[in-house]
Amino acid sequence: MTNKTCVMCGAPITEKNVIGINQKLLGRKIVNFYCMNCLADYLEVSVEDLMERIEEFKNGGCKLFE
Ligand SMILES: [Zn+2]
Repeated sequence: MTNKTCVMCGAPITEKNVIGINQKLLGRKIVNFYCMNCLADYLEVSVEDLMERIEEFKNGGCKLFE
């Protein structure tokens, strides 16, 4: 495990799904990661929307998610 922290608020990001949604929505090569709250803020969506996207990707069999 690598230690990632949210670029906005500094919260530790430990969940694979949160890292995965960052990469899905912002690109595989990103170096700055956001926690769910800050990512939702940044993308101007709700955390619930992000959760739904994660479920969709998971159901699609994406290996970035567990
Ligand atoms: Zn944050």
